[in-house]
Amino acid sequence: MALHLAIVGSGPAGYYTAEAAQKLNGGDVRIDIIDRLPTPFGLIRAGVAPDHQSIKAVSRRYEKTALSDNVRFVGNVPVGDGGISVDELLGLYDAVVLATGAPTDRPLGIPGEDLPGVLGSAAFVGWYNGHPDFVDLAPPLESEAVVVIGNGNVAIDCARILAKLPEEFEGADIVQHAVDALGTSQVKRIRIIGRRGPHQVSFTPKEIGEMGELARASPVVDPAVFPPVEEDEALEPGLRKVVTTLRAFAATAPDPNKPVLVYFDYFLRPVEVLGEGRVEALRLERTRLVEGRAEGTGEMVDIPCGMVVSCIGYRTLPISGVPYDERGGRFVNDEGRISPGLYCVGWARRGPTGTIGTNRPDGYAIADLIAAEVTASDKMGRAGLDALAAEKGIDIVTFRDWQKIDAAEVARARGGAPREKFVAVDDMMSAARS
Ligand code: NAP
Repeated sequence: MALHLAIVGSGPAGYYTAEAAQKLNGGDVRIDIIDRLPTPFGLIRAGVAPDHQSIKAVSRRYEKTALSDNVRFVGNVPVGDGGISVDELLGLYDAVVLATGAPTDRPLGIPGEDLPGVLGSAAFVGWYNGHPDFVDLAPPLESEAVVVIGNGNVAIDCARILAKLPEEFEGADIVQHAVDALGTSQVKRIRIIGRRGPHQVSFTPKEIGEMGELARASPVVDPAVFPPVEEDEALEPGLRKVVTTLRAFAATAPDPNKPVLVYFDYFLRPVEVLGEGRVEALRLERTRLVEGRAEGTGEMVDIPCGMVVSCIGYRTLPISGVPYDERGGRFVNDEGRISPGLYCVGWARRGPTGTIGTNRPDGYAIADLIAAEVTASDKMGRAGLDALAAEKGIDIVTFRDWQKIDAAEVARARGGAPREKFVAVDDMMSAARS
């Protein structure tokens, strides 16, 4: 008897779990990888920056898994309210793994954050990556000044995309609506705000290095923000490289031929978004480091801006009936175990940290746990899901259908781009059924 496994979410965590379960169980497992969208790969398609194509190449590895006989991609199937419930899945499969990632923004928790012009990174990244949920975002790019909050790689991605010329997107799968909007952007000043100092950033060396290579933007760092250079020696090598790059930015005058300035500001924490009817400024409090933490000094600074992009981390979306940790923004779990037969993996398990590769050991660990705890039964698995989906009027998209969407996107790519994504689910479905 084969083990029936449902994995909800077709991003990196979902595929690594499938790959691991397949290796462990050989032909004795049937895996359905379910996604609410008709397109697979989650964060690889909708999160990884469009001008970082080499990172997206990992999806080829997931394709191999998706095309094996005992693994199936089941797209266009919502799980939770209005779709298939987790209880229904548990009735059909021996184990269910939630690999749903963390697709929503952690709130800033400050007054004014709901003003128009304040965007979360999930929305802004989703917009330029063509996620159907964010097509209508219309970021206010007529503003000359933008503030990006956070000192992680997502903040760098957002600032870099805002700073680039359309020509710099050659070879990128950024969607046409974003290229058009960015092509008429009036943005001249981008301030990336850290609530702590340059020794506490979460950037990685390649990502910070790219900020010094932009065609129309110069990085600007105040030399006064750094601790004595000798203190860099104690840093972990990757962070030391990042800090060395920031010091090089601080030592170099902005290029007078580049009209856009990207400031890296430190020791400032957001306290209020100001504006009448829309964002007009961000109020920040100066901080100092106390035992590694940002402590407010009481001194306020207002930065005028017409757009704020908050890049302070993500949250998993709750699913009815699944225990949820509000503070951590993920499912309540013990090493990935939620309840008998129900597991979670990746960002839905541990929160939004780590690279794509971090999901590999995570996926392998959860597959080991399932192998130790779950035995095959006579549950119906995929045949049961097909029947239930038909009953609920859900039109399942298979991996072969996705390959039709893929081919249509590649065929409509503008010159030099790998694809032009469909941004509406209806258009994806038309291509899948063509
Ligand atoms: P992150 O690396 O955890 O950075 C979040 C940033 O937000 C930190 O600088 C944090 O500051 C700051 N922050 C949190 N709460 C704040 C608040 N209330 N006010 C002001 N600042 C606040 O997260 P991320 O940038 O969202 O990235 C998520 C993961 O994806 C990371 O592991 C990242 O490396 C990865 N990623 C990788 C790439 C790539 O490899 N190219 C691209 C994108 C994302 P504190 O440190 O002070 O808490």
